[in-house]
Amino acid sequence: MAKTAYEIRICGLVQGVGFRPFIYKLAYANNIVGTVENNNEGVLIVAEGEKVQIEKFISAIRTDAPVAATISDIIPQERKLNGFANFQITTSRSYSDEVTEVSPDIAVCDDCLRDMKKQPHRIDYPFINCTNCGPRFTIIRNLPYDRPKTTMAPFKMCPQCEKEYKNVLDRRFHAQPVACNTCGPHYTLHLGEEKITDLQQILKITAQLLADGKIVAIKGLGGFHLACDAQNEESVKLLRQQKNREGKPFAVMFGNKETLKEYHFLNSVEEKLLTGWRRPIVLLKTRKALAASISMGLNTVGAMLPYMPFHYLLFEHITVPALVMTSGNLSDEPILIDNEAALKDFAPITDAIITYNREIYNRTDDSVCMAVNNRERIIRRSRSYVPAPILLNLITEGIFAAGAELMNCFAIGKGKQATLSQHIGDLKNLETLEFYTESIGRFSHLFRFNPAMAVADLHPDYLSSRYAEETGLPLIHVQHHHAHIASCMAENYLDEKVIGISFDGTGLGTDGKIWGGEFLVCDLADFERTAHFEYIPMPGGDLVTKEPWRMAVAYLFRYFGESFLRENYISLFSGINHQSFEAVIFMLKQNLNCPETSSAGRLFDAVSALTGVCPLSSYHAEPPMRLESVAISDGNEFYPFSFEKDVISFKPAFIEILNDFLNQVEVGVISAKFHNTIVQVILKVVTDISAKSGLKKVALSGGSFQNKILLTKAENKLQEAGFEVFSHTLVPSNDGGIALGQLAIVAKRRSLNNKFNKLI
Ligand SMILES: [Zn+2]
Ligand SMILES: [Zn+2]
Repeated sequence: MAKTAYEIRICGLVQGVGFRPFIYKLAYANNIVGTVENNNEGVLIVAEGEKVQIEKFISAIRTDAPVAATISDIIPQERKLNGFANFQITTSRSYSDEVTEVSPDIAVCDDCLRDMKKQPHRIDYPFINCTNCGPRFTIIRNLPYDRPKTTMAPFKMCPQCEKEYKNVLDRRFHAQPVACNTCGPHYTLHLGEEKITDLQQILKITAQLLADGKIVAIKGLGGFHLACDAQNEESVKLLRQQKNREGKPFAVMFGNKETLKEYHFLNSVEEKLLTGWRRPIVLLKTRKALAASISMGLNTVGAMLPYMPFHYLLFEHITVPALVMTSGNLSDEPILIDNEAALKDFAPITDAIITYNREIYNRTDDSVCMAVNNRERIIRRSRSYVPAPILLNLITEGIFAAGAELMNCFAIGKGKQATLSQHIGDLKNLETLEFYTESIGRFSHLFRFNPAMAVADLHPDYLSSRYAEETGLPLIHVQHHHAHIASCMAENYLDEKVIGISFDGTGLGTDGKIWGGEFLVCDLADFERTAHFEYIPMPGGDLVTKEPWRMAVAYLFRYFGESFLRENYISLFSGINHQSFEAVIFMLKQNLNCPETSSAGRLFDAVSALTGVCPLSSYHAEPPMRLESVAISDGNEFYPFSFEKDVISFKPAFIEILNDFLNQVEVGVISAKFHNTIVQVILKVVTDISAKSGLKKVALSGGSFQNKILLTKAENKLQEAGFEVFSHTLVPSNDGGIALGQLAIVAKRRSLNNKFNKLI
């Protein structure tokens, strides 16, 4: 048979995910000779062989590619025969930069789970992995991704593992963390002073402890978990106390999908998210309740399935349907990764601690997502998502984006990509701030990042803004809500004028006030604020986020005055200490410590508090989450509002909400009508802006769009009205995605200024 030759270009995220070994094996299997190399676009293959085999080869590239690879294009082009003798992985001459892509961690694959039961040297081996699965980012110290540069370095491969590692036809060919019972890391159970290293003993004892209602710390892939029986209310309550986590819901892990389905409703998108290689926590509607203290009254639970071999082994032994698997940290500190620290910190609050002797280098929390309008929406982007870059249509090289303050995540620009850090957390916490600076150092090193300029939030007191300032790099400050919309535009490849709706809790505006209910007309480079929610005072400043009833008082004070509040104290605020209530009225009257805000989050807080759903908040965004949770959301009824000039006022809505509430209309109905009101506001204002500007594309961003009812209805109603709607699927709509927007804004401004040969 005559041979033909093809040059095949593979575009997308195909570097650092085991792609070249995959191609090597595939070429071997199809009798193809030639070369494979990384290049600036992705991977370049030169393939020579029989035409039908080359066709088979190309189609298998698409169907069998490593799970962490994203192929955007395969472009084959016929070329002259070269007469290669074999197939080789080569280093490219044309490739200008080192390969700096790092694969995210991948849940253990089905093949490995089968091997775990039949390969003699890997029977029940809890660190089994192959080229298609296993730890990646969490163990990588440096590039190129070779074993000595990972935390597997201290473990010398046994001859058997080495043979597999070197055999091109083996699934463990070039699998850097390859290991077995003979040569790899192992677990230790710490029971007080006693240390148990026999795995079967560990599993048996742990299962018994959990069944007895005990709390066990278990080292995971990106950090420790604290685990207990998810059906045991006493244990869950105790864990909540020990962790000093008053009200925030706990995540749970089910042993398998079938059991999970008994407890939660699951549509096909949610099922795909749960069972995919990333294994995030997925927010699911409850069908049958576990212990009440898990969700603390919300109608959803964050659930996940096992992703480490150890999880599977543990569920073989335990009898309970699900375990609480919450981040192993105290209060709001970063998740613990270090064995010594865990032994010290967890000893007083747990009954046993399970460690293993491989270091976690890069800390990652479990990622959290949900499905809205049949698409994945990421709430916390960390394990198994990070550090896969976001591909952009902009040159981002050298830009460092510092992110925001709460739910911080930073980003670095390389080529036309943005690499976002894992979820860092609230920088106001000292340990978290250390995690932030350490991670910036590690990302810069790992990705060979040469910073040329920095971008930070407009708020000068955000610790991320201060950090950016201290770098000494040329620094650009960008407005918070513009950055939100820019992040949504960037991930959707939008580079034009759009209508941006940016709803969240807080962000400094260009007028020095706190924004958060914003309608912008913007492109990537700049924005104009075209409409916003009415400014309302926040009595006590930031304290209102912990005491949302203060916002309810502030709205009523603004709309109906002091005497109305006093007359209705008993019917509306009887749960609130009278002295505090009077103090707030005094502050409002005197305009003392009452910064003004147009925040959508504070509006939700006010309604949630006023209706008695959540007058006091114990964690971030609790009031809107509870309000959403109680809504009976099938109807379309809404409250009136006013929109004059560029200001949306909710006075007409508050009149009716009060009426409904005092007439004992069900809170679920009020909540639903309130959600519909916000959707109507969106529809009205967007229609108005569109009529004036001719714009038809709408971008939705900001933390408020984590509200499922709001996002679903806003998208649907806008689409029905003929608008093209863009929202987030790759990065969070909350502040965890804002670094992407910061990066995109500065990349765009730089490209414009380069054209005119000016400095920024
Ligand atoms: Zn595997
Ligand atoms: Zn071995």
